[in-house]
Amino acid sequence: MDFCKTPAITLRRTDFKDTSQIITFYTRDFGKIQALAKGLKRSVKGISGGIDLLTYNHIVFIQKASSTLNILAEWALRDNFHLLRNNSKKYYSALYILELVKEFTEENDKNAPLFDLIKNTLCEIADKGDPTVNTIAFEVHLLTLLGYLPEMNCCAGCKGGVDTKRLSSFSASEGGVLCADCNRGIREKVKISGGSIATINYLAGKKIQDTGRFSIQSSLQVEIRKLLIYYLSFILNKKLKMWRYI
Ligand SMILES: [Zn+2]
Repeated sequence: MDFCKTPAITLRRTDFKDTSQIITFYTRDFGKIQALAKGLKRSVKGISGGIDLLTYNHIVFIQKASSTLNILAEWALRDNFHLLRNNSKKYYSALYILELVKEFTEENDKNAPLFDLIKNTLCEIADKGDPTVNTIAFEVHLLTLLGYLPEMNCCAGCKGGVDTKRLSSFSASEGGVLCADCNRGIREKVKISGGSIATINYLAGKKIQDTGRFSIQSSLQVEIRKLLIYYLSFILNKKLKMWRYI
């Protein structure tokens, strides 16, 4: 029986029997885990009684064999990001980030830089960040950290140059932007402007701490959002619930 201590962000919680909850955390030291919180009933008449969704905690859990649930032994709330709870755009963006992390990660697959990315992004959105820009930056960094960033610097087919002065093609199945030659014959693709390509490349090359106050013109925000939804749905092979709210 191992006692494991780690910073953790709550991704999901579900009731378990009458008085307990099963909490899904993304932890800094163990990746995504599930733990049974005994005796922590979810709520009484809407008043939260357990560990809230979208909180940063320090937890201690008892690690069990893979077939049984971990047991939450201790938890201390460090930040509930209260500044983003009164603003629906910020709140939905934050919930979307939790959904992305839940969908993109496997249990017990440690990735400390990803934990730091989640925490920094939630802090930035709660503070003075633009939720749309922060979310786009988060998606680009998540894809980079997990090895899914599409090829945006050259043609994904022949590795040759792409003329970004004109609209280019982007194909999820081909893994990135395509030159005029490789574009022929590819049916599954969307159009992308040079401005969107440059913005994604700029974000991918920056540390997350440097993208917080970055601005993106609104027409590019719309185009990049559409492109990322197209690409993420291809990678995950599903649609995410929060897409219609962000
Ligand atoms: Zn090519």
